[in-house]
Amino acid sequence: MSTPPVVDDPVLALDPQWVAHLAERAVTQPRAETMTSITPLTGRPLAVLPVSTPQDVHLAFVGSRAAGQAWAHVPLATRSQVLLRFHDLLLRHQVEMLDLIQLETGKARHHAFDEIVDTAQVARHYARHASRYLRPRSHPGLIPVLTDVLELRHPKGVVGVVAPWNYPLSMGVTDALPALMAGNAVVVRPDPATSLTMLFAAELLDRAGLPGRVLQVVLGSGPSVGAAVVQEADHVCFTGSTRTGRTVGAQAGERLVSATLELGGKNPLYVAADADLDRAVEGAVRACFASAGQLCVSTERLLLHDVIADDFLAKFVPTVAAMRLGANLTYDADMGSLGGPEQLARVRRHVENAQAMGATVLTGARPRPDIGPFFYEPTVLTHVTPEMDVAKEETFGPVVSVYRVGSDAEAVALANEGEYGLSASVWTADAIRGRAIGSLIRAGSVNINEGYAAAYASPSAPMGGMGSSGVGRRHGAEGILAMTEAQTIATQRLIGVGAPARIGQERWADLITSGLKVMKTLGRH
Ligand code: NAD
Repeated sequence: MSTPPVVDDPVLALDPQWVAHLAERAVTQPRAETMTSITPLTGRPLAVLPVSTPQDVHLAFVGSRAAGQAWAHVPLATRSQVLLRFHDLLLRHQVEMLDLIQLETGKARHHAFDEIVDTAQVARHYARHASRYLRPRSHPGLIPVLTDVLELRHPKGVVGVVAPWNYPLSMGVTDALPALMAGNAVVVRPDPATSLTMLFAAELLDRAGLPGRVLQVVLGSGPSVGAAVVQEADHVCFTGSTRTGRTVGAQAGERLVSATLELGGKNPLYVAADADLDRAVEGAVRACFASAGQLCVSTERLLLHDVIADDFLAKFVPTVAAMRLGANLTYDADMGSLGGPEQLARVRRHVENAQAMGATVLTGARPRPDIGPFFYEPTVLTHVTPEMDVAKEETFGPVVSVYRVGSDAEAVALANEGEYGLSASVWTADAIRGRAIGSLIRAGSVNINEGYAAAYASPSAPMGGMGSSGVGRRHGAEGILAMTEAQTIATQRLIGVGAPARIGQERWADLITSGLKVMKTLGRH
């Protein structure tokens, strides 16, 4: 379709023909029930989309399983070409994609652009490196020279992706890409609030040359359609809250299929006594308020060394207060809307509960219905105590709490409090010290002198959570090997491994014992 999809500011709506065209990609019945999504930018209806039934999900898996068998035999170089063409198409069609992401999530345009960058990087990475990750590997065998051991990697089958609404392109596609490179088919269930973004991504994959039904999209609610995907998948990729992650993990466990669970966080950012404060302020603002704080790796706890706390806040608070909120499809806003009424309610509850229990608001703490129904000012709290909701739970909104610490050790202890362990950040002039502090923090990713992006946007490095923040990793070798079954093929040559009849078991045991000693002495495997 060449017509521009957006009908123009300030209407902030979509061309219904384009919506209908995208909806045709979903696996649904001709007269399916429908759901209406809204745009958080205005609260007005955005799209009416069909809903898949659990039977549709089953049919999607049957179709993908058949298509996947042929896809698994497509040479890796050809699969790479599909991902590289997808990369180019995504960059070429970024305006339409950015409009969709913004309209469905309400986030600011530059935050939507982060998803384009992330997805393009992951596509390029796996297109270029999958052959290295997946190539057959030799292992030392039982009897040196005489036992040949080869490890092969086979696709699992059909990978089921259940994605949340906060990063609909990144979370919908960046697990699917390594799955496809590994020779799997994929069924994706995007969040009902952000289905169009995924449908457009599926269209771009199609245009990039992905054969039909190798990736299919089903639409509908988590407990119904999402759960049906988990019931059929050969590997589950789930991104969402820790609470739902436990349910999904239990279902996958019941079926004995593997699951990668990317869950919540309560991420700390520590500014040490020697940090460059201007850089730290800029990085902290980005880390706290990316996608209005609705980013799994965004910062919710600022740990400030006593020595710099006042100076840091003297720069940080006015910078936060000056952030521009905006409901538009341009790059003019620093921060956009919350995703919807539930997010706004949770943010309000956390801030009001904190205020009622004695926290101090340094800036923000106000809904902004004058801009859009779910806008909320970026908020900085201090005097937060452990009993407050904002201290205990993930807010997943534009709210950060300030804590003062007297030493690096105190910062590490505070960073490690709580059940989560997703992401952390350390700011110091001494990078070696920063890495030493980082290695003591229980978090899957630690950024030194950056809030979150340095680790997250390095797609060859694993990304995921410790503790209640998740199981497994996306990106890098782990992100693709998780979608494969390892197979070991060992070939025994010349002599067998059992006791030869003429030697007898006892003499054989003596010989093996001597062999084990020699192997240890020689430093062999
Ligand atoms: P959520 O757990 O409420 O929902 C996540 C998704 O799961 C939704 O799309 C929902 O429809 C679906 N779902 C609900 N019940 C289900 C079920 N029984 N079976 C299958 N799917 C089901 O989370 P949310 O509030 O929508 O998303 C925000 C959460 O996601 C935050 O906690 C955030 O930290 C986390 N997150 C984590 C990462 C990461 O990489 N670690 C990335 C993005 C978001």
